[in-house]
Amino acid sequence: MARDVALGLKEAQRMVDIIGRPEDQVGEEERKRIALETVENFAHHINKGFLEYRKSVTEAGEFAVTEWVGQGSILRDALGREYIDALGGFGLYSLGIRHPKVVAAVKAQLDRSPQYSQEMLDPLRAHLGKVIAAITPGDIQYGFFANSGTEAVEGAMKLAKFYTGKPGFIAMLRGFHGKTLGSLSLMGKSVFRQPLLPLLEGVRHVPFGDADAVEKALAAAKAVGDGIAAVVAEPIQGEAGAIVPPDDFWPRLRELCDHYGVLLIADEVQTGFGRTGTLFGVDHWDVTPDIMCFGKALGGGVVPMSAFFSTPKIWKVMEPNPFMHTTTTGGNPLACAAALAQITVTLGEDLPRQAAEKGDYVLGKLREFQSRFPQILQEVRGKGLLIGMEFPTDEVGFKVAAGLFSRGVLTAGTLTNAQTIRIEPALNISYELLDELLNRLEDTLKSLA
Ligand SMILES: *Cc1c(COP(=O)(O)O)cnc(C)c1O
Repeated sequence: MARDVALGLKEAQRMVDIIGRPEDQVGEEERKRIALETVENFAHHINKGFLEYRKSVTEAGEFAVTEWVGQGSILRDALGREYIDALGGFGLYSLGIRHPKVVAAVKAQLDRSPQYSQEMLDPLRAHLGKVIAAITPGDIQYGFFANSGTEAVEGAMKLAKFYTGKPGFIAMLRGFHGKTLGSLSLMGKSVFRQPLLPLLEGVRHVPFGDADAVEKALAAAKAVGDGIAAVVAEPIQGEAGAIVPPDDFWPRLRELCDHYGVLLIADEVQTGFGRTGTLFGVDHWDVTPDIMCFGKALGGGVVPMSAFFSTPKIWKVMEPNPFMHTTTTGGNPLACAAALAQITVTLGEDLPRQAAEKGDYVLGKLREFQSRFPQILQEVRGKGLLIGMEFPTDEVGFKVAAGLFSRGVLTAGTLTNAQTIRIEPALNISYELLDELLNRLEDTLKSLA
C-alpha cells in the first residue's frame, strides 16, 4: 500500500470514534460497512488465508460474520446475529465474555495506573504471586508473569535449563505449547514444526499417556549422555482434541522425573483455573509438577496474561541476576487486576465443580448421540468442559462445525487434530444454553445422518 499518512490518521480516528460511541449510536449502515470492510481489510492487511479457512464465517449469507459484542456465552456480530459460544476462545473465556467482576476490577485499575514504571515495586504483581502460590499444589511459590501462553512455556524452558544445566526436553506427540521458536520445538505435529527445523536441539517426542515410553526416552538419553532438563506435557491435551491420559501417567511422570533428576513441567495454559473440573489439571492425579505454566483463562478473558511458577528451590537460580528473564509488559497492573478478579470468581463461584458437573452432563448427552449416530460421531472424550468430538474425516468434522455455525453455535476444530471438534464453553454457562447447544448439535447430526 502506498504511503499515505493522512489516510492513516483519518482511518485511525474513524474507528476510535466508533468504539467511543455507545452501542445504540452505531447505526445499521455503519455496521454493514464495518462488516464489509473487515473482510476487505483481512484480505489486504491480515491474511487472505483466514477468509478461506473460516468459510463458515465468510459465507454466512450476504455479510460475513463480524465479531462485535459479547456477554457471557453469547456473541453478537456487527449485524446483530447471535451465536452461542461453545468454543470459549479456545479456553480463554472460562468466565464467559466480559465477566462483570473482571471488567470492574480492570476499569478501576485503569483509573489508577495501567502499566508500571519498570522501576518502582508494583503491588498487584507481588500480591498475585502470593495468591497463586496459595492456590497451586505442593510448594509452588514463585512466579513470572508474561502476556501469552507461549511466553510462559519459553520461560519455563529457560528456567529448567538454568536449573539443571542440561539442554534437552522430552515432549509429547500431538502436544501443543505455542508457536514461538522455543515452544515450537516441543510441538507434537510436523506441519507446524518441520518448515522451521532446526529448532532447539535435544527434544525427543514420545506418545502422550505412555509412561513406559517416557521412561525409555529418559533411559536412552542417559545411556548416550544427552542431558535432559525437563519432561513437558499438558495434563490433558487440548489442541490434540481433549486427550485424557491413563490415570497412572502423571503419577509415573513424577516418579520418573525424580528418579532421573529431571524437572516436570505441566503446561496448564488450557487446563488451568477450573477448565477440566479441578482447579488445575494435575489435581486430577494429585501431582505437584516442578514448573507450571498458565495462560488463556488466567486474565479472566479480559486482559492477555500468562505465567510460569515454580518452587523456592528451583527459583533460586533466578535470584543472582533477576534480569536473566524479563518482559516490559508482562504482569502489568491491568492484567494482574484481571487475574485477581478471575481467581475470586473461579474460587468464589466454584467454577471447577461447575465444570465437572456440566462436563459430565454434556459428555452423557454426547455419548447418547454417539450411539444414535455412530457413523458420524465416532468418539467423545474429555474431562470437565474440555470436550472433544471425533469424526471419521476432516470433511465430516467441518460439516458438523459449519452446520452448528448456521444454527448459531460457535465451535472449532482443534489445531493438531482437525477431525476433532471441541466443546469448550464458559464454565459458568447456563444449563439452558447447554441444552440449546445440544439440541442444535442433535439437529445438525440428524441432518447429516
Ligand atoms: C494455547 C496454548 C498455548 C499457547 O498459548 P498462546 O497464548 O496462544 O501463546 C500453550 N500451551 C497450551 C497447552 C495451550 O493450549
